[in-house]
Amino acid sequence: MSILVQKYGGSSLADLQKVRQVAQKIVATREEGHDLVVVVSAMGDTTDDLLTMAKEISANPSRRELDMLLSVGERISMALMSIAIQSHGHEAVSLTGSQCGIITTHNHSNARIMDVRPFRVQDELEQGRIVIVAGYQGASYRRDVTTLGRGGSDTTAVALAGALGAEACEIYSDVDGVYSADPRVVLTARQLESLSYEEMQEMARCGARVLNEEAVEFARRAKIALYARSTHDRESRGTVVRVDYPQDARVRDESRSPAVAVSHIDEGLWVVAGEEADAVMELLESYRVAAQRWRPGEAAALFLNVDDVHGVDALVEEIRGVAPEVQVERAGMVSAVGSGIGRRPRWARMGRGLVEGSGAEVREMFLFPDRLSWVMGCGEVRAAAGAVHDGLVLGQ
Ligand code: ASP
Ligand code: MG
Repeated sequence: MSILVQKYGGSSLADLQKVRQVAQKIVATREEGHDLVVVVSAMGDTTDDLLTMAKEISANPSRRELDMLLSVGERISMALMSIAIQSHGHEAVSLTGSQCGIITTHNHSNARIMDVRPFRVQDELEQGRIVIVAGYQGASYRRDVTTLGRGGSDTTAVALAGALGAEACEIYSDVDGVYSADPRVVLTARQLESLSYEEMQEMARCGARVLNEEAVEFARRAKIALYARSTHDRESRGTVVRVDYPQDARVRDESRSPAVAVSHIDEGLWVVAGEEADAVMELLESYRVAAQRWRPGEAAALFLNVDDVHGVDALVEEIRGVAPEVQVERAGMVSAVGSGIGRRPRWARMGRGLVEGSGAEVREMFLFPDRLSWVMGCGEVRAAAGAVHDGLVLGQ
């Protein structure tokens, strides 16, 4: 039988009524004849609530203990979901990340999956059970519980799908797919039918939170089609992320809309590191913060997405501590994503014009094959995102 991996996000599991509804949906899918592995996130705001509790006790809680604490959120969901499915007369079993053989680095609160050995999952599937998995967690090679960074349940789902040779991985949430920009910020944003792994990765890297970047990377490597769908809206087809067909990029390039989407980061860090760029990069590695780097060699400048960092102020202090000439400030970034967009100077020129036309002052521009990014003041981001979206995605 073909294996299907599904993941349900926290807002789709926010209360018991919702847990019951999702359980019914799972049972229906099972009855269609799939072997099912279901990854769950923590219910509603549980993760944030747990984090707040820890911070009330200590301004700087140990990251190991935070992992112990935060991993509980997903365990509550998995047990309740399994109980709900059993109450429909189906066999289900819940498993933690560690029981599923998810082995990670030792980097607490932001661990990376190194290996997945899903023997237990396979055994349970063979027994005819629906397997419910606690997302967002694994065990380090030192046998400590680790968590995978915010939104990490997506990564659990895709990594398991890859290791099990699943037919597809479906990510269910309250949003009905991937949009061409954050629809809460850019009102003209529209739902995308399909996009490539690379495009989705660039979007995630630049602030889009629908799918986790690492999850998309796993899907790309295992060539698994990744579906983003709405939990409740059965009519909507959602978005599929898969191998790009080369003609898509060509068509886009010849049309007036070279970008598929625009992503933005309201508040990141802008670091002018000069000669110290390598030292700063090394420090960032320990935090697992990805840096966008420009002008290597010269007065190197970096832009950091710190949405997932617990304790940004501590990070800022550490970066300043690298050398007196290193400058750090808050800044935002708007990015236009599309295969090949960085290969045509006219798109970069046009994008810059759109950003400046929205009233923003460009501090730096990054140019990559599949992405153009502009760094600007935090307050300028939203208007610029709208202008770039309408110009480069809608072609208006
Ligand atoms: N519960 C975790 C978070 O809120 C992981 C997840 O939802 O994927 O970030
Ligand atoms: Mg969550």
